[in-house]
Amino acid sequence: MFQFVIVLVCVLTTGCTFVFDKSARDEGRFLTEKYAIYRAGIVSEVSYDFTIDLTNAKNYSGTSKIDFLAKESAPLSVDFFEGVVNALRVNGQTVSKIEYNQFFINIPEKYILKGKNSIEIDFTHDYSKSGSGLYRFVDPVDKRVYLYSDFEPYDANTFAPVFDQPDLKATYSSNVTVPKDWEVVSSVREGSVGKTGDTALWTFPKSKKFSTYIYSLHAGPYKIWSSSVKTKNQTIPLRLMARQSMAQFVDPQEWFTTTQQGFVFFEDYFAYAYPYEKYDQVIVPDFNAGAMENVGAVTFNENRFITRGVKSRIQQRTLAEVILHEMAHMWFGNLVTMKWWNDIWLNESFATYAAYLALSEATPFKEASTDFIADAKGSAYWEDQLVTTHPIVFDVPNTDVVFANFDGITYGKGASVLKQLSFFIGPDAFKKGLQNYFSQYAFSNTKLTDFIGALALAGDTDLGDWQKLWLEKAQVNTIKANMVCEQGLLQEFSLLQTAPKDYATLRPHRTQVGLFTLNNNDLKLLKSFDVTYSDAKTKLSEPMGMACDNIQFIYPNYNDYDYVKIDFDSRSLETMSKAISAFSDDVVKIGSWRSLWDMVLDDRLSGFEYMNIFYKQAPLEKDADVLRSYVDNGFKVVEGAHPRVGTWTEKFAAEQKKFASFLFESMKSAPNADVQRIWFDEFLPVVSSAEHMAVLNDILIGKKQPWLKFPIDQDHRWEIVSALASSNFPNFETLIEKEEKRDASARGELKALAARASAPNLEVKQKFWDILAKGPTAEMPLGKLRYIVENLFPPHQEELQSQFADAFFTNLKELKNAPVEYLGAYARLAPKFCSTESVTRLEAFIKSKTDLPPNVIKRLKVASQETQRCMAIRARMESGKAPNPV
Ligand SMILES: [Zn+2]
Repeated sequence: MFQFVIVLVCVLTTGCTFVFDKSARDEGRFLTEKYAIYRAGIVSEVSYDFTIDLTNAKNYSGTSKIDFLAKESAPLSVDFFEGVVNALRVNGQTVSKIEYNQFFINIPEKYILKGKNSIEIDFTHDYSKSGSGLYRFVDPVDKRVYLYSDFEPYDANTFAPVFDQPDLKATYSSNVTVPKDWEVVSSVREGSVGKTGDTALWTFPKSKKFSTYIYSLHAGPYKIWSSSVKTKNQTIPLRLMARQSMAQFVDPQEWFTTTQQGFVFFEDYFAYAYPYEKYDQVIVPDFNAGAMENVGAVTFNENRFITRGVKSRIQQRTLAEVILHEMAHMWFGNLVTMKWWNDIWLNESFATYAAYLALSEATPFKEASTDFIADAKGSAYWEDQLVTTHPIVFDVPNTDVVFANFDGITYGKGASVLKQLSFFIGPDAFKKGLQNYFSQYAFSNTKLTDFIGALALAGDTDLGDWQKLWLEKAQVNTIKANMVCEQGLLQEFSLLQTAPKDYATLRPHRTQVGLFTLNNNDLKLLKSFDVTYSDAKTKLSEPMGMACDNIQFIYPNYNDYDYVKIDFDSRSLETMSKAISAFSDDVVKIGSWRSLWDMVLDDRLSGFEYMNIFYKQAPLEKDADVLRSYVDNGFKVVEGAHPRVGTWTEKFAAEQKKFASFLFESMKSAPNADVQRIWFDEFLPVVSSAEHMAVLNDILIGKKQPWLKFPIDQDHRWEIVSALASSNFPNFETLIEKEEKRDASARGELKALAARASAPNLEVKQKFWDILAKGPTAEMPLGKLRYIVENLFPPHQEELQSQFADAFFTNLKELKNAPVEYLGAYARLAPKFCSTESVTRLEAFIKSKTDLPPNVIKRLKVASQETQRCMAIRARMESGKAPNPV
């Protein structure tokens, strides 16, 4: 901070001799906010011109030409991660002694002129093995090569030398040499393609101004589908791309329809025409995230969004939601960008919120609000109650920290809080505020205060306290409705707000309360009304005097405007236990299941009570969305109820068997295909009995199952093979080999790897363990290692996993310089066995002075907390009565 003040004084004072301490830039791998502030104080008007040659399979080479204005002659550094700098020229002068530490290139002060500057760096770089940077993939089916880039938050500099910070927005032009049959995709459409012999030179003209993390370069013989959308303002050309060998499974119309609906909706809602001329969506293999909002050239995770069979409605809607999420970023994030990563939540929260809004208003997926509770809010409540929770707005001293915080708070809680804010100030004011925000800050960078200021102005209200209490304080409040019913009339109705002991913040909330009675097993709304509350106790006059004997269910967050946990009164609990599966209001139903689980975690409801409702009500559920939002929690209770300290006890095995039978029977009697698919997904990981394995094998060999309501596609077949392998089905290796012959695709390769890794055999585990210990390599990139990690120890192989518990920690220390994406995935193998020993071991490791990245430490802390939760559920259940599966 002090240094920054000096910089400003010098910049603003003519004739000041500027002295900058080079130590302001830490010698580490990541960029600090402090240095980013310094650099943005010097540099402006940046434009990049890249010359890149992608014809070499081993690595790629190129030149990064950076033109910019400097406010003063001053030392600068250019970010460039683990490449080779072949030559450096600054303002035409060759720098003979290049200062490069593998993280950034130092340019001494004497080379930088006040005013116009041009830096040219000739470089060579390896292709990425982790999926971040410029990733190269060879399709095992046809040996075709595909490349794509992925740069958020701080990986544009693993592609080429750049000033890699969001507030140094720049224009980009490029010349890219590739094999002649390739397509090349970037933020703008190519200006020309010149073919010479076996190669082609693609030239891309200057783009509009945007941040480095959303620049992109994808190349390869992608299959391309084209379309367009005509909005009120313009016609936007659309393209969709995928690998040739996966093209047969892509329904381009499905993608284009949502994209078209999205553009019409967003241009109208934001009152700002899409600013980037064209829109490409590229489906890519081995992708680390779900999708990435590169300007005009969005990437999507192929494994997640290409289904090799019939998509369930949930899969269709998830794809539509992600398409819309990335589109919303074109405005929120790309057109207007956070100044620094501390405001990344606003990017993600807003895109999440806007995607669900567009989903419900512009597409046929009108059930988006229930999906929002199950997905976005579900992850928010979970993450916000972890020991690692943090305020929505948090300090990001360097780019290492931002990576750890792409989480349920950044996405789900922020989106939930925006939904609450929209109801708090009114949806019209919210929309008006957004529109003003875009028109005022287009093509520039903002801080949180700019966003909140625009909304406060439109809503004619002061949001200072709101911002402090909602955005700068962590954790979630709980609400409980309290009513006094005397002589059949409501004498008192109040809402009680509480906060966790360590996060004692009460907040201003605005929502609705619904009072219901039971009618033919369904809820019938007797009365609903708006409420605003901010104190520990708020008495409400609205329902006073109404007849109350028949109020059997109170839902204090009707229509789900609030972000709050519910502590149900005993009468409502009784109603849920009798009839929750028959509630016809899905918003209330999902929210209720969600709250029941919170009550278990908060020790307000025992696991047995929960399971009694679960066993009785879950098999009656007809809605796949509702079912998937809570069915997982049943297993968590079973897991917690039966200790397995040290070894795999018979007691737990028996309980798990009982649970597996319950899942199997529920699956067989499921009322529809989508519900059956949910039970199927839950059932596979717990299969252990000979009877269940035989049924699965029958499905594989094509024996008709009269109960089966959905077609078993190739991906389902692999899931079955994996489940059988993990349960030691006789000759499972032959099954894997047969399946490999049926499916010789890249995905087949991954699935076979997963199936082999899941086999319950110590030697097999050791073999895969040794592969994991090496980290990503050219033969085993992160995309493959991820499959091994996820399948190495299914829940019932705890005893085998326990033999690797110590090795997990030893390897983790040795892997500390591996890519953070890999370390985050690897940390999922943390041993957590619902035992004191596990907690002690995890806590001791966390406390030991390890210099592991924050995302890894975060995962270990969560593993420890989950273990403690499991033990707490068990302790509570020890004196209770066991539930009975129906
Ligand atoms: Zn996003």
